[in-house]
Amino acid sequence: MRIKRLRLTGFKSFVDPADLRIEPGLTGVVGPNGCGKSNLLEALRWTMGENSPKSMRGAGMEDVIFAGTATRPPRDFAEVSLLAEVDRPDGAQESEIVRRIERGAGSAYRIDGRDVRAKDVQLLFADSATGAHSPALVSQNRIGAIIAARPAERRAMLEEAAGIAGLHVRRKDAEAR
Ligand code: ATP
Ligand code: MG
Repeated sequence: MRIKRLRLTGFKSFVDPADLRIEPGLTGVVGPNGCGKSNLLEALRWTMGENSPKSMRGAGMEDVIFAGTATRPPRDFAEVSLLAEVDRPDGAQESEIVRRIERGAGSAYRIDGRDVRAKDVQLLFADSATGAHSPALVSQNRIGAIIAARPAERRAMLEEAAGIAGLHVRRKDAEAR
């Protein structure tokens, strides 16, 4: 899977619509402290189905919505869209994954315009050996956590990296039926 574009509206400090094209190869994001670099990575993780507000540096999930500044009123929704090239057995295909959250109304996901469950989005990324908890996304405080992880936690990281995490999600799903 390759992410080709990231669009944000009302997400954290990105109050105005921002549209970032991600070209093949290495991409660097540079800027002064507090300009929103980590918010961009969090937008990626959030759209992939991250559900822990703490790992998004907030108290509740609505904290990802632009909270206002001295000169701008707060927003009542946040939306992030990822355009991804997904490898399928029948060839590569482009997919647009959208997550939106509204104050008081929770969040909703769409894949290519269709309403889907959070689980569908999580599975899509897990099958591509990426996702909200992928070891490919390392936040500023995660290095220490990897070093201090218990064996079971480290196994989960290796399973994510190996692309078999989706199988566990499906097994849990099957057991619950
Ligand atoms: P550093 O170089 O220090 O790591 P950074 O570029 O990673 O900085 P971020 O942590 O991404 O910066 O951005 C922090 C900024 O985002 C702060 O100014 C904070 O006020 C702002 N911010 C976070 N959440 C919201 C929100 N819900 N509404 C408005 N602004 C927000
Ligand atoms: Mg940062």
